[in-house]
Amino acid sequence: MQLFPCPFCGERNETEFHFAGELGKLRPDTAGDVSDAEWGRYLYTQRNEKGHVREVWMHMPCGELFVLERDSVTMAVIGSRALRGETA
Ligand SMILES: [Zn+2]
Repeated sequence: MQLFPCPFCGERNETEFHFAGELGKLRPDTAGDVSDAEWGRYLYTQRNEKGHVREVWMHMPCGELFVLERDSVTMAVIGSRALRGETA
């Protein structure tokens, strides 16, 4: 079991969290305005970087989205903060 730090609730069991995507990956405004290829890239392409990554996670009990920084190799958590005001 690993503990993840929700910036609103504190450390909780990893089973309470849901991965929401890589930070900076933006959904196209309107699905009808993008080609099938662009939509497919949005849905299925990940950077999947090795090392220090910044990701968006949701803590399901409080429903808040936040940024989780972790090492994708060691799984060590570096920190977390509220999503508001974040940029890629
Ligand atoms: Zn929370």
